[in-house]
Amino acid sequence: MADLVFGGCNLASATPGYAEAPAGAPARRREVVVNGRRVKTVDVHAHCGVPAAMALMGLKPAPSLLMSQPADRLRAMNEQGIDVEALSINPYWYGADRDVARELIRLQNEALAEACAANPERFVAFASVALQHPDLAAEQLEEGVKKYGLRGAGLGGSVAGLELSDPKFHPFWAKAEQLGVLVFIHPQGTAELEKTTRLAGNGVLTNTIGNPLETTIALSHLIFEGTLDRFPGLKICAAHGGGYLPSYAARSDAIMTTFPERCVHTLKKKPTEYLRQLYVDSIVFTGEALRHLAAETGPSQILMGTDYPYPWTRTSVDHILTAPGFTDDDRVAMLGGTAAKLLGIRA
Ligand SMILES: [Zn+2]
Repeated sequence: MADLVFGGCNLASATPGYAEAPAGAPARRREVVVNGRRVKTVDVHAHCGVPAAMALMGLKPAPSLLMSQPADRLRAMNEQGIDVEALSINPYWYGADRDVARELIRLQNEALAEACAANPERFVAFASVALQHPDLAAEQLEEGVKKYGLRGAGLGGSVAGLELSDPKFHPFWAKAEQLGVLVFIHPQGTAELEKTTRLAGNGVLTNTIGNPLETTIALSHLIFEGTLDRFPGLKICAAHGGGYLPSYAARSDAIMTTFPERCVHTLKKKPTEYLRQLYVDSIVFTGEALRHLAAETGPSQILMGTDYPYPWTRTSVDHILTAPGFTDDDRVAMLGGTAAKLLGIRA
């Protein structure tokens, strides 16, 4: 923890809008300030892994995912101006039988709780749950929140070939709604396409477009199958700006009038209106993309994400500080204000 230096009020601010450590300084903690207001920044999209749990599936986490010695992670957070990471684990256990899944999730949620307890000012975590066993997943979420102090649940974008809107998962959604906790949905790619050559070749298309595509499919089903009508209190945050859905949102409304006879499920609202109750992370790379995302979801629905340790971006804070068209209040909300409320982080 020796590298953790709290910035004082004498730090020079080279760029309007925030104070930053001088170049060349050791890993000093960047303090983000908006119009004179210190903002507690929260990263809702930060990965980690638990070796003992992965071993049950014959897997090993990459070293950068480990929480046993978080110095590199804390250094990156300090440099980037991230005060709090909300840790999550990408599901790899959806094929596990009930006994393995129970043990794996227990190990994992205990380890997440320990990682948070070791640095309570810097980490909170989403519980992992074995959603392939929905009743068990509901128990695991409740235990994760009440026993381990976890702040919500992390899910994949589908579960062993089933959509998140499948009625099988209603018990889990009911529990998440009842507890009022945030559910973070992170895609796992589109396994069905990976069996073909459609995403082969250059460009890692399985990830580049496969990941946001899966999120788009998952959210579309949650909307069109009526899951969000059935559980209107759900708080869901989708990774990577909600995939492609906000980029072409109006098409989801247009289908209702173009082919009404094929939209057999009556929804309570227009499809695009559900976008304004979902949360999405801010990983969309350009100011214009963030502006458009906010136009579709409302700035109140955008939560900062980094995708740590994967180096998609190291400038999530500046992205939000410099994107066009936002008020100071919008920026404070996106940087961490909204996430802090949703995740029970003290301001
Ligand atoms: Zn990610």
